[in-house]
Amino acid sequence: MNLELSPSTLRAKLEKLARWGVMASALSGILPAELPAEEYAQLYTTVAERIEKLETAKLRLEIGQQVGEEMLKTVENPPHWKPTRAEGVPVPVEGFKKHGVAAAMKKALAAAPQSFTRQIVDVSYDGRMMEMPDVYGMSAKEHRLLASMTREGHRIVFTASSDSYGPTFLSQELRHEICHFGDPAWNTDLGEPDRIRLYAQVLERLSAPNRYRSEYVEDIKNPDPQRLASTKAGEYWAETCGAYLGGDRLLPAADRELVESLLAKTDPAYQRMNPK
Ligand SMILES: [Zn+2]
Repeated sequence: MNLELSPSTLRAKLEKLARWGVMASALSGILPAELPAEEYAQLYTTVAERIEKLETAKLRLEIGQQVGEEMLKTVENPPHWKPTRAEGVPVPVEGFKKHGVAAAMKKALAAAPQSFTRQIVDVSYDGRMMEMPDVYGMSAKEHRLLASMTREGHRIVFTASSDSYGPTFLSQELRHEICHFGDPAWNTDLGEPDRIRLYAQVLERLSAPNRYRSEYVEDIKNPDPQRLASTKAGEYWAETCGAYLGGDRLLPAADRELVESLLAKTDPAYQRMNPK
């Protein structure tokens, strides 16, 4: 929260909220034009706390409208999961036979934010082909599923479709999957106001004219607009966060700042390494 807010900025914020009809007009009445410094500081704390609550309430409404009540409930209270691996022990990487792939994956895992990787039980290669889940509305012809992550089992699995790719491409695919574990909507290392705020930002970026262009995200189809928005939001986050971890220069500044703003909360000591 910005402690440098002046009474006029506070009033402007309250007026904006009042348009949302969330009882803000009652609050704006307690801000007189001039106040002695010490009274202002005290009043500021009270008002700033209320503003944060009102802003969170407003974002909650917006999120519910865009992705539906069920997804909103997840953002408000995502499932908790306790890592079983001791801190500092690397994520096991299993079953990759192609030369250089396992080593590249271990490197990508070691370079990724710890709050994300400690959520991962293991990364493995499974020789089967897998279908894209129906929610994506893509045929196997349009998009082959190279890898997927499971929210229940906390695993990342690479499919037989990944066979035709090398270590560099598969590491980028892995960064995308790792990032699903840092998704603000499901992130239990964030407090609720931060989850709400960051998830609302992902939803905003998703349809911004200067958004990160990912063919994969753009191709997602679902006749239900709320399912479409929640599915796209999860993939937009994974794509942009993966691009950030991979040092993609095409990532727009707004998306970079979004990822950094999450990492500042979950992994304050994180330093992006050169992935090459
Ligand atoms: Zn994904």
